[in-house]
Formats: sequence, structure tokens, C-alpha cells
Amino acid sequence: MTDLSAAAEILAACGLDAATLNGGTLAVHSPIDGAEIARLAETPAAEMHAVIARSQTAFAAWKTVSAPRRGELVRLLGEELRASKDALGALVTLEAGKIVSEGLGEVQEMIDICDFATGLSRQLYGLTIASERPGHVMRETWHPMGPCAVITAFNFPVAVWSWNAALALVCGDSVIWKPSEKTPLTALACARIFERALARFGDAPEGLMQVVIGGAELGAALTASAEVPIVSATGSTRMGRIVGPEVAKRFGRSILELGGNNAMIVAPSADLDMAVRAIVFSAVGTAGQRCTSLRRLIAHHSIREQLVERLTRAYASLPVGDPRKGTTLVGPLIDAGARARMQAALEQAKAEGGIVHGGKAATNAPQGGAYVEPAIVEMPAQTAVVREETFAPILYVMGYETLDEAIALQNGVPQGLSSCIFTLNLREAEDFLQRSDCGIANVNIGPSGAEIGGAFGGEKETGGGRESGSDAWKGYMRRATNTVNYSASLPLAQGVKFDV
Ligand code: NAD
Repeated sequence: MTDLSAAAEILAACGLDAATLNGGTLAVHSPIDGAEIARLAETPAAEMHAVIARSQTAFAAWKTVSAPRRGELVRLLGEELRASKDALGALVTLEAGKIVSEGLGEVQEMIDICDFATGLSRQLYGLTIASERPGHVMRETWHPMGPCAVITAFNFPVAVWSWNAALALVCGDSVIWKPSEKTPLTALACARIFERALARFGDAPEGLMQVVIGGAELGAALTASAEVPIVSATGSTRMGRIVGPEVAKRFGRSILELGGNNAMIVAPSADLDMAVRAIVFSAVGTAGQRCTSLRRLIAHHSIREQLVERLTRAYASLPVGDPRKGTTLVGPLIDAGARARMQAALEQAKAEGGIVHGGKAATNAPQGGAYVEPAIVEMPAQTAVVREETFAPILYVMGYETLDEAIALQNGVPQGLSSCIFTLNLREAEDFLQRSDCGIANVNIGPSGAEIGGAFGGEKETGGGRESGSDAWKGYMRRATNTVNYSASLPLAQGVKFDV
């Protein structure tokens, strides 16, 4: 079992007192062994009005603070995250079951986005636009928008908040965070870290960043409120199908980051040593629980058999087990439900003609956790089960003859998050980049493990939202077109005459 005193130590290092994290209604289990590590008080749904009102008040003050000064708060947040990297990384491992280096990597991603957003706070650039009227100038300017709700999934319990919050804060918005009910402790830890940054900053308004603890009903309250102009929601397509229309109904803005079903095409010219390493990391890293995890391998017929053989060999030696051990590469699934869904998908794949390698419950792993051997499934075609996202380490393998066929398979699923090709043929690589229908398309690297500098997100059932780098910040601001007349006459556009 999880040593509860060790868990308490990790919580204390994150500024959380284990003794105060009990007596509530939300049980928090460690996926490492299923042990209950806290029982948190939930935010009553009736309190959401007050939470939103506080956020509105905070916004009214925060939007008047200059953007570079807002960036200073995010810079301090980055400093506090650097100081807390080990502690928060350990809590990610305890609460989400990530291996140590992935827990730390997630915190590093938070630090990176804080650095990015700090620079961005001096670069919220608008445009000047040529006016057709003499003595006039046109500009496009960007303005704070209002409270931004951030609804997050269990699998990136802290990084997704930071992608959103760091940008929203420099853009002048207040933030209300509704973390996954499966990973609320990491959210409370981030709130403590944020408080330390606030204390050093000095004069930020109260309620600038609030965390609410609970389930979908709290997310629904944020989604329904016209006082929350931006709802950034990360999670399943099932959730996005509810949240998207709800926000649209009141003409709010949603940033949806939903499920993926990511593919790699391996062409005959591919460097197979590199491809094998990229496949294994992207298919089994985070136990296949990344939105960008590799789920479909589309291999040219001439190399398919050889590739499957090399992969099954690599899979056989994968260390599955306690994520706290330095040697482990595959930790647990989040819970028993996830393992049951994986088993059901493997059964369905068999019924649809698949040949399954691996996929059994893992031995030599702590009792009480949902540990599985990652699976490779050779499929005769892209059947129904392959077209769905199963959030577990299942890699479906299919063959192809022509690149057209491979790209049609790659694009032939409802999701559109991440894609890649391994090839040494420049024509193939460029052709693939033009024709992949995903938000992310890579050459000679896997589909997962994005850097924060690019805009992150995908098309179709992935929801269309963009977060993190590039100009994703524009999603957190309101755009205005300004026309200024510095002449002494009043010409109308399009030559319209209206003399009074
Ligand atoms: P989930 O959809 O079960 O829950 C995500 C969040 O949505 C939770 O906070 C949950 O409480 C909330 N929620 C659920 N129903 C809601 C509703 N009706 N209204 C408002 N909020 C609601 O997802 P999960 O199991 O935590 O995460 C796994 C999923 O997230 C996978 O599908 C994965 O691909 C996806 N994901 C996508 C990205 C991305 O950037 N595209 C990133 C991480 C995870």
C-alpha cells in the first residue's frame, strides 16, 4: 500500500496539510495502489455564483493593470514552480501515476509556459491597417476579455492549467479552475504555489485565480454562466459535445481540447531504429494516457512484419510497475475502469479480426493499481474499434501500399489531433504535411511530447481549440477594430454620400 506518511510528506512539501484534507466527500485515490490519500471537501454547486462574481470583480481590477506588470506575476509563478518542481512532480506521480521523469517533465512544461507568457506580456501586438479614407487610421487592438474557466482532465493534471492560466493572466483575464475530480490535490498544490507568487507580487486582486473542487456539475455551472466569457475545456469528446453547444448557446467562446486518435505512417525509406524508439515512447509513455499518444501505426507492407517483430520484442522488455521506481517506464492506468475499457477494446479488436500481442494485467506491480502490459494489435483494416480513442496503451497496426492509401487511413477517423510520418523521402514528407488533417503533423518524430512554443490542439472531434504557444493567446482576448479620423472632414467608406 501507499505509505500514507510518505504521501503526507509529499503533500506537505507542496504546502498541503494532510490532516486538513480529510472529512469531505470527494475521495482521492492514488493509482499506484488504489489507496485513499485524501477525502476533500467539495465546492457546493450553490457557491458557484459567488465564485463567478468574485472572478468578475477581480477581472475588473486586473484588466487595468498593465500587461508587462501582469507578466511579472507569471514570472514569479515560474520562479515558484522552479522552486517546487521536485515536490509538485512527486505529487503528479502520486496522484496521476506518472513515472518520475514524466511528473517532473510536466512541471517543466509549466515553467516553460510561464517564461513564454512573461515575454508575451510585452508582445500582445495589434495591427495598423491602411484606411481607404484620407486622414484616417485603422488599428486592430486586443483587450482583456473576462473570467476564463479552465476545465482540465486527469492526465495532465497541472500542465494544462498552466498553459491556460499563464496566457489568460497576462492577457488580463481572471481564472476559475475546475480540475478533474480524479486529480484535485495537484490543483490545490498549484493554488498554494500561485499564492506564494501572489504574495511576492503584492497588489493583485483577491479571487484572481480560484480553484473549485468537484465533478461535472461545477464544470456545467461555469459552462452555463454568461458571466464567464471564455471556457477552455480539456477532456473527452463526450464532455466536449456537452460543453461546446452549452457555451455556444449563450454566445460564449469555448476552447475545446478533446480526444485524439493519433497515427504514424512508416514509409519504406524510414530509419527504423529511430521509428521504433519513437513508436515505443509515444504509444506506451504515460501508459498510453496522453491525448497525443500513438494509437495507430500505418506501416508500408514491405516493412510491416519486420516492424511488428521489433516492436513486440521491445514491448516484452518494458518495465511496467511502480511509477516511483527510477527504472519503471510504464506506470498504472488511472483506475480499474480504464483497465476494463482497455480489455473491452481488445476483445472488440479480436472480434473485428485483430491479432493481439500483450495487453494482459501486469504482474510484478503493486497490488491495487490498474497495471497492464501495453498491447500491439495487428488489424486487417481500420475497423470500428480503431476509429475510437481508447485511453490506454493499445497500438493498432495496419498496412498500406501507396502513400495516398496511408494518408486516407490517417485522416479516416473522427479525431484530428496529432500525426506523423517517418520517411527519408522529401517528397513524401512534404506531401504528408500538406494532406494530414490534424492540428499537429510531424516528420521523423512521434506524435506526442509537444513543446510549448507551438499552438497546441486539433481538428474535427478534437474540438478545434488552440492553446499554449504561437498566437494562441488571441483566444483569451477580445479583438477590436478602431478607426480614428484625424482630418477635418467626414468621408464615408465605399464612397457613400449622405450630406445633411
Ligand atoms: P473527462 O471528459 O472525463 O473529464 C475532463 C474534465 O471535464 C473533468 O474536469 C470533468 O469533471 C469535466 N466534465 C465532464 N463532464 C462535464 C460536463 N458535462 N460539463 C462540464 N465539465 C465536465 O476526461 P478525462 O477522462 O479526465 O481525460 C481524458 C480525455 O481527455 C481523453 O479523451 C484525452 O484525449 C483528453 N485530453 C485531451 C487533451 C487535448 O489537449 N486535446 C489533453 C488532455 C486530455
